Amino acid sequence: MSEKTYRHEDVALQWRRTKIIATLGPASSSSHVIERLLEAGVDLVRLNMSHGEPDEHRRLVARVRRAAKRLGRHIGMIVDLRGPKIRVGRFAGGGIHLDPGATVTITSRAVIGRDGIIPSQYRRLPRDVRPGQRILLDDGRLQLKVVEVKNSDVLCRVIDGGLLTDNKGMNLPDSNLSSPTLTDKDRRDVKLALELKADFLALSFVRGPADVMRLKRYMKRLGCTLPVISKIERSEALSNIDDIMDCSYAIMIARGDLGIELPAERVPLIQQDLIRCARQRGIPVIVATQMLESMITQPRPTRAEVSDVATAAQLSADAAMLSGETATGKYPVESVATMDRILREIERHQWRTGSFAPNPIAERGTKTHRIREAMAHAAVELTRDLGLHAIIIPTRTGTTARIMAAHRALAPMVGVCSDRAMCRRLALHWGIVPVSTRESHTRDWRRLCAQVGARCNLGRSGHDVLLVSGFNEDPARNQPVMKILHLK
Ligand code: PEP
Repeated sequence: MSEKTYRHEDVALQWRRTKIIATLGPASSSSHVIERLLEAGVDLVRLNMSHGEPDEHRRLVARVRRAAKRLGRHIGMIVDLRGPKIRVGRFAGGGIHLDPGATVTITSRAVIGRDGIIPSQYRRLPRDVRPGQRILLDDGRLQLKVVEVKNSDVLCRVIDGGLLTDNKGMNLPDSNLSSPTLTDKDRRDVKLALELKADFLALSFVRGPADVMRLKRYMKRLGCTLPVISKIERSEALSNIDDIMDCSYAIMIARGDLGIELPAERVPLIQQDLIRCARQRGIPVIVATQMLESMITQPRPTRAEVSDVATAAQLSADAAMLSGETATGKYPVESVATMDRILREIERHQWRTGSFAPNPIAERGTKTHRIREAMAHAAVELTRDLGLHAIIIPTRTGTTARIMAAHRALAPMVGVCSDRAMCRRLALHWGIVPVSTRESHTRDWRRLCAQVGARCNLGRSGHDVLLVSGFNEDPARNQPVMKILHLK
């Protein structure tokens, strides 16, 4: 960008608003690839605890931290707990063929599978299913219907057949699972997440608020409180969505399992609804899975995938997530660069048409809540009406930045914070550019804005920015401030 002109559009669009999350894995484990992922635009990384050993995760985290430091970036880290993922066991010869119409027994006995017998790693299966219910295998490719339950055996008829191999996933879309959401492995992984100083915990297969509260209680026992991202991937979660959102820091629309548990054609409207509900509450929402799936093997996405990523930005999700594309694919860096380009294209259009997203309908709440929502709304209107170059948000607890993010301002929003862990947390929030400085608590706002303005290319001397600060959940400490300041 030219130092002399500071075109308004160039200042405003130098940052992408929708954040990118990349899942790390064998394809992205080297320092070199990690650094290239961050350069291509990754804002947060996700460690998927369904795969990998603790030492591998430790090495990955060290590499991410080094790369982030080298590039001067605040990269958030999500530890995604495996949860009670149900799988079949192993087969003699590695797999069996299931013929449509045939009868097959799924057993919770510890046996090796063979023709007509499928071992289940989930011991409670006979307790949880009833005749007439569906059992889906291998990401829903194979479908069985329960005919009868006899002690530890579940007799089924094959509806959609095919080859079933070792350890493939099993989904029970019609059943209420009795297994706890937080498994023993998850507990070990929570401890690992604390050791790794992760910024978020993602909880898989959430059914209701009790699952989130169980994780929070466990963390409390360990003396910590990491923000919880509830993964919405069970139909039960949809019935309890308001209560889940009330106790979650953020939600992830985990469309992989969701699209197996529910008819896939229902997912787009569910996604739209979940984004709307999360935005009304002002909590971040992540759209996940199969966004650029074909880039696992091909250097270019399909047109449908491009539309899918574009939709996430048009609906104003906080973040879009890559899974296999960056974890195991052949083109991890290209996948991030592609996602970055699509999101920026949509955002440029939104910016030019004068709005990133309609304002969320502020829920009626406490007086403090209503004051801060009204002020955030006013701040957004002010920057638009006056064509201000940026909103600078000194923040200690992150609250002001979180609330401003939820209002989707047209101007870029710089969250200034002296706490680096808080900067990493802000990386998840729509449109917030986290900047760390020792000065975030100073009352010399003018000097702070000048410093941040110069560091972030926000404009030249005389350009105006809006400073917003002081929102707090605690009414006694809620002292919102809004000031228009000249850059010096
Ligand atoms: C999903 O199912 O879409 C998802 C994100 O979860 P996981 O990758 O853990 O299966």
